[in-house]
Amino acid sequence: MHQLTLAEIARGLADKKFSSEELTKNLLARIAQLDPQLNSFISVTEDLALQQAKAADARRANGESGALLGAPIAHKDLFCTQGIRTSCGSKMLDNFKAPYDATVVAKLAAAGAVTLGKTNMDEFAMGSANESSYYGAVKNPWNLEHVPGGSSGGSAAAVAARLLPAATGTDTGGSIRQPAALTNLTGLKPTYGRVSRWGMIAYASSLDQGGPMARTAEDCAILLQGMAGFDTNDSTSIDEPVPDYSASLNDSLQGLRIGVPREYFSAGLDPRIADLIHTSVKELEKLGAVIKEISLPNMQHAIPAYYVIAPAEASSNLSRFDGVRFGYRCEDPKNLIDLYKRSRGEGFGAEVQRRIMVGAYALSAGYYDAYYLKAQKIRRLIKNDFMTAFNEVDIILGPTTPNPAWKLGAKNSDPVAAYLEDVYTITANLAGLPGLSMPAGFVDGLPVGVQLLAPYFQEGRLLNVAHQYQMNTDWHTRTPTGF
Ligand code: GLN
Repeated sequence: MHQLTLAEIARGLADKKFSSEELTKNLLARIAQLDPQLNSFISVTEDLALQQAKAADARRANGESGALLGAPIAHKDLFCTQGIRTSCGSKMLDNFKAPYDATVVAKLAAAGAVTLGKTNMDEFAMGSANESSYYGAVKNPWNLEHVPGGSSGGSAAAVAARLLPAATGTDTGGSIRQPAALTNLTGLKPTYGRVSRWGMIAYASSLDQGGPMARTAEDCAILLQGMAGFDTNDSTSIDEPVPDYSASLNDSLQGLRIGVPREYFSAGLDPRIADLIHTSVKELEKLGAVIKEISLPNMQHAIPAYYVIAPAEASSNLSRFDGVRFGYRCEDPKNLIDLYKRSRGEGFGAEVQRRIMVGAYALSAGYYDAYYLKAQKIRRLIKNDFMTAFNEVDIILGPTTPNPAWKLGAKNSDPVAAYLEDVYTITANLAGLPGLSMPAGFVDGLPVGVQLLAPYFQEGRLLNVAHQYQMNTDWHTRTPTGF
């Protein structure tokens, strides 16, 4: 049962092969048995799951249908869930029970999805390895000595290990696509504004975007359908109709123009990953795509720009955690300043503190023009590069990450070494574009992802290309040993 995809579950439930309650019990037992090795969940919401599963079965018995009705999922632990701990992977929010549901959570619940729990993540979504979590590191099911990627590493590890078919993630600089790549999943970061950020605890508000993580593009289409849409509660949500993402999955790729940026194949890329990317390009050519070399000349400036803008926004967003209104408060504060200092000093981990310091510095008087304003100018140049490229091509293709999953602890002493792993993903966030990562092969037994980027609101095109690729390859069907 645990091997079923969301699409197969929907068919099985419609054909009454099993009930949502049966499926939910089966997966909850699997989580109890296997998750201790992975640490992919921060909270398992057993009671809620069983209650939602029974309600979904009752709705089906009453004649209702829907691809998500009775489908088990989990939420990254930064989506607010009413009455349930929403920790953001931090000691700061270890005791925080959200007073309301995030829009994404509410929409998926209304569609009948069953929440099995809240998944582990890098603290406040800052990281690429899921090692900065207050609840401990998450292990990669493909090799338990390796990281699963981050910051949505819990969602990635859980889905890859077949503890459930799909989960939500968020992507500020790659946190859906990079862990998807490192665990052999398909993950989609939508266009900025496509999925509501209301109730998603903010890291860097101009970059954050929620999206689906699953094993197949077909399942990402189903989950995205339930997540996307205009929301008056999010001032950056965009009032555009949501297309039927499943309807375009089988469109032909004949004549599709794919751009491959020459800057992607520089010295930093593992040559074995480069080979797999070239193989995936050939596969898409067989399906009718036309390949063209393109250039993204400002790509080299993306990491420095991102690592100024994201911490700057984070330093502002995280000022609300002050020991007064939310979460952790230090013992016996001597005065208000002592309360602020110790609550934040004790409640936030090292990486979060590092980024607050960098961000506050970059925004301070005298440095704002030199760092923040400069980074925003680079951001515009990166967006312009993409706009030029999309005049010539329909999709941009390249690696998702320069390396496969690294060993736990390998980059802990050098934060910048981890930042460099984001080189292929952060440009999409800086430009607000949609991006998808899909399985493209293995290096030393560890999964490799290929990334596709598309123009604004072309999520359907990304899912279409990925689905056609998956109809003709079997990388996405591989299961990690032991799971
Ligand atoms: N690895 C990047 C960072 O640490 C991206 C994280 C994310 O997308 N949330 O900021």
